[in-house]
Amino acid sequence: MSKGFLLVISGPSGCGKGTLCKKILERNEKLIFSVSATTRMPRRGETNGINYFFINKERFSNMIEEKEFLEYANVHGNLYGTPKQFVLEQVEKGEIVILEIDVQGALQVKEAYPEAVFVFLLPPSMSELKNRIKKRGTESEKDIDIRLKNAFEELKFIDEYDYIVINDELIEAVEKTEAIIIAEKLKVRRLKNILEKIID
Ligand code: ADP
Ligand code: 5GP
Repeated sequence: MSKGFLLVISGPSGCGKGTLCKKILERNEKLIFSVSATTRMPRRGETNGINYFFINKERFSNMIEEKEFLEYANVHGNLYGTPKQFVLEQVEKGEIVILEIDVQGALQVKEAYPEAVFVFLLPPSMSELKNRIKKRGTESEKDIDIRLKNAFEELKFIDEYDYIVINDELIEAVEKTEAIIIAEKLKVRRLKNILEKIID
């Protein structure tokens, strides 16, 4: 069986990563979402184990020491990390695993797993980005400013990514991301085993 791959999705806070991932996962039952650990407090409507594993700083430090993270980073003042064992097991089994992580984390993944696929999601404009964060209503004015400032920093790393998807109309962004997944599945290096099947 051929291996699966990691699909890393980054982009400024509020550009719609969570919304896009949710839609893609609804439409593609086989895709797997990597649930990150974070020291951030849960937002209204978020569930432990589904959106994130909400843990305290001490537990997070333990996980770092035990090398349980594939990558981790301090994002907007909170710690976030991808539990390693689960995602690597899934990839070994042939599954495609979505990692919705920030640029710092994506760079760590690229270093360790250059064969992963990197998608940068962009808002149609920075003013629309601000509208979306405000509309979500989950951050204070101060946190909105931090997130907007960080957005410009994150854009500097866009060349490290393989694909850009602009999230203007959600459904179009979803379809483009699905097209990336289809194309990546068809890469020759991922389909080496196919010859064994067709040469009969
Ligand atoms: P992120 O996960 O990147 O921080 P969210 O998925 O939480 O962003 O989206 C931020 C806000 O923008 C939410 O209120 C969401 O409903 C809205 N949103 C997401 N995608 C779109 C879109 N294509 N058009 C308009 N609003 C959107
Ligand atoms: P939020 O607090 O809005 O859910 O996420 C804030 C930022 O943290 C987003 O850019 C999101 O992609 C990023 N993030 C979420 N999980 C992880 C993770 O496991 N690792 C890293 N490096 N970033 C993450």
